[in-house]
Amino acid sequence: MSEYSDGVAEYVARGEAMAAAVAARRALMKTKKFDTIAVHGVYDMQAAAANQGSIIEPGYLSSAEHFENSDHMEAALAYLMPAWVYSRIANPTVHYLEETLALLEGYGFDGDVSAVATSSGMAAVFMATNPFLEKPEQGTNIVASARCYGGTFMLFGERYGAERGIDIRWVRDPLDLNEWAEKIDGETRLVYGETPSNPSLSIMDIEAVANIAHAAGLPLIVDSTVATPALTRPLNLGADIVVHSTTKSMTSSGFAIGGAVVARHGITTDIGPEEMRDNFAMYVKLLPFRDHGPGISPFNALMTINDLRTLRHRMDFVSTSSMKVAQYLESHDMVDRVAYPGLESMPGHEVANRSMWLVDGVDDYGTEVNRYGHLLSFEVKGGATAARQVFDEFEMIWRATDLGRIKSVATIPAISTHQQQGDEGRDLASVPPNLIRLNVGGEHPDDVIADLDRALAVLSKRSVVLPAAGRTTHR
Ligand SMILES: *Cc1c(COP(=O)(O)O)cnc(C)c1O
Repeated sequence: MSEYSDGVAEYVARGEAMAAAVAARRALMKTKKFDTIAVHGVYDMQAAAANQGSIIEPGYLSSAEHFENSDHMEAALAYLMPAWVYSRIANPTVHYLEETLALLEGYGFDGDVSAVATSSGMAAVFMATNPFLEKPEQGTNIVASARCYGGTFMLFGERYGAERGIDIRWVRDPLDLNEWAEKIDGETRLVYGETPSNPSLSIMDIEAVANIAHAAGLPLIVDSTVATPALTRPLNLGADIVVHSTTKSMTSSGFAIGGAVVARHGITTDIGPEEMRDNFAMYVKLLPFRDHGPGISPFNALMTINDLRTLRHRMDFVSTSSMKVAQYLESHDMVDRVAYPGLESMPGHEVANRSMWLVDGVDDYGTEVNRYGHLLSFEVKGGATAARQVFDEFEMIWRATDLGRIKSVATIPAISTHQQQGDEGRDLASVPPNLIRLNVGGEHPDDVIADLDRALAVLSKRSVVLPAAGRTTHR
């Protein structure tokens, strides 16, 4: 500290007190239940006192922070004290969101966890992986589940693979542990999976894959968007880094695109500087993040904070509805296959049973229950044309490339989210053309089933009444 003036040193001391106060608040909240954390985060009465007494986290839409004098500015900009400086780097509202995300994802985890909020889920996937891929050499590779989100498939395959020459080793069946082990070698930089995956709902054994990655000295990064921390917390199962599209089930309202990188301290890797291993999320936030510029807007952070408060209750309700819808679809004559982690017919159902639990249980937190989220997909008998006919019949279920919503939404991934990756890529990712992805919302499940039932009936009607090429006649 001697290299700084006395004036700066005063701010450094003030900063230490500020950091200690945040750490104390964080430690206190770590002793609370999941719902309490989701409702309050680290925003307490002391924080409110500095915010005109507001009991709700204020939205700081300001682009920048004013400094008391040049010493304050120097201390803040040199990262010698907590400060938010400029909203691309940090922001008080975003800070409240990041603290809540770290506490929820780190719920029950024996160790420190930090989070950085991003402008989108894709920005989170990028920021979680890119720091491991600096200076790629001959043979540099990543091992990743092919059963992943279309954007992730393109980021890895096109941006990292085709543009930078990184070898992308796709794991075709994430349940096959040998496939993970065989694809890893001395040039592997990271291991990446998504579970349950979008849109095939493929399951991966996080614990087992983490063990394989760690044995090779590699970090396991898991996209847990579909499960949310209300159902699965990958850090507890051995993952090093978790990524989220908070746009989806984390929020449900559909008011804000956003994402998050949440990491335990002390990740497994020999890449990068020590600060990157010690606290990956903070490293990303303070360094590469500042230069790439993928920060979330404070307004979106506020929308996200607000939705997170009810996360556990929402995931409980929509999971229960989804189970009913999945069972209905499985029993339907015109449906070939339903993918939902809660169905016994689903490959990996046993693994899902081990890892997908409603946090803190139900019945006054006494009984632990499996809950499987609200994303499912089903294959319509009769191929792509039949799938489109059913899809076009929905009257309440929205046709949109979205999921996690409080409103039921469906898409045909082959012509939307997974359109860019081509036939071969879709085959690799298990996305057939007759697959409809359905996100079951907060409506009464009977009404969702009624819409599906009426839409599926079009197939039996058509085959009798209309010629094969018949188009809808009633609109
Ligand atoms: C939507 C999604 C993403 C990307 O998130 P955006 O917020 O749309 O950028 C990443 N992973 C999964 C599993 C997703 O469903």
